[in-house]
Amino acid sequence: MIAVLAGGTGGAKLARGMLDVVGAAELTVIANTADDVEIYGVHVSPDPDLITYWLADRIDSRGFGIAGDTWHLMDALEDAGHPTWFRLGDRDLAMCLIRTEHLRAGARLTDAHGHVVRAMRVDARVLPMSDEPVRTEVRAEGRSRPFQEFMIVDRAAARIEGLELRGIDQARPTPEVLEAIAGAEAIVIGPSNPVISIGPILAVPGMRDALRAAAAPVVAVSPFVGGRTVKGPTEPFMAFAGLERGATGIVAAYEGLLDGLVCDERLADPGLPVCVADTLMDDPASRRSVAETTLSFAAGLARGRPETEARH
Ligand code: GDP
Repeated sequence: MIAVLAGGTGGAKLARGMLDVVGAAELTVIANTADDVEIYGVHVSPDPDLITYWLADRIDSRGFGIAGDTWHLMDALEDAGHPTWFRLGDRDLAMCLIRTEHLRAGARLTDAHGHVVRAMRVDARVLPMSDEPVRTEVRAEGRSRPFQEFMIVDRAAARIEGLELRGIDQARPTPEVLEAIAGAEAIVIGPSNPVISIGPILAVPGMRDALRAAAAPVVAVSPFVGGRTVKGPTEPFMAFAGLERGATGIVAAYEGLLDGLVCDERLADPGLPVCVADTLMDDPASRRSVAETTLSFAAGLARGRPETEARH
């Protein structure tokens, strides 16, 4: 069993590669839910949904939403003069409706999202990090706003002055998450934003202890490719958190947790086993290859013989 911690882009792409390598029965993805938002009367879980769409091979080429989706509902809302800054396609919205219906009937977020996973015909598990609500708020220009508003309305352009995870103290890892971590052969921290995607997962009280107690090696894949992040505001959030750009910053972000790191840089003094490999995942073959490399590196660590030599 492989457990992957993921946000909605880098981690999701790696999870898709893992699916090819280990198969659905062996794959559990633990997803950030601090980007969740209630809008248009539904509960949207952007990261769990993107992971699910990736695993279903239904992700749109924009990197979010469902391929080939239509926009009738957004058009109707726009005609009605209703704000539509958060764009949800019709099929995407249908998945959110399924989740919301189950939540309103009293289901846990884990089970409600499980219905979305099944609706997308995905057999791997995609688990919210917790059932309790956690919401990222970003402070910029002297004002706090929900994460999605900062990303979409403000286009993540303003200088970040603060970050808050509302509800984090009340959150707990779910039994399913704890079981996945305890039973894993390898635990992989995907190449997601370490501050706002992986950060909230690790901040759930009890999560770090569970990872430290796990028998499996914990390996991170760096989101830096050729020294830069591929997409999204990882760099400004890392700068805000006082983390250096590049793999050194990733090692610092996960201090005390990692048994190894996969990245495309040679680090002078990493302080842990490093597997140097290409980590760009822009097609199925490269996603599969990064997943394979990561898992064989983790297997070497588990046997106590880290494979630290360079690969290409
Ligand atoms: P979000 O939830 O959509 O913001 O996405 P994540 O936090 O999961 O992912 C954002 C990170 O994914 C960025 O830092 C990117 O550098 C990283 N990323 C995207 N594509 C790739 C890739 O092909 N390889 C690697 N190594 N990182 C990637």
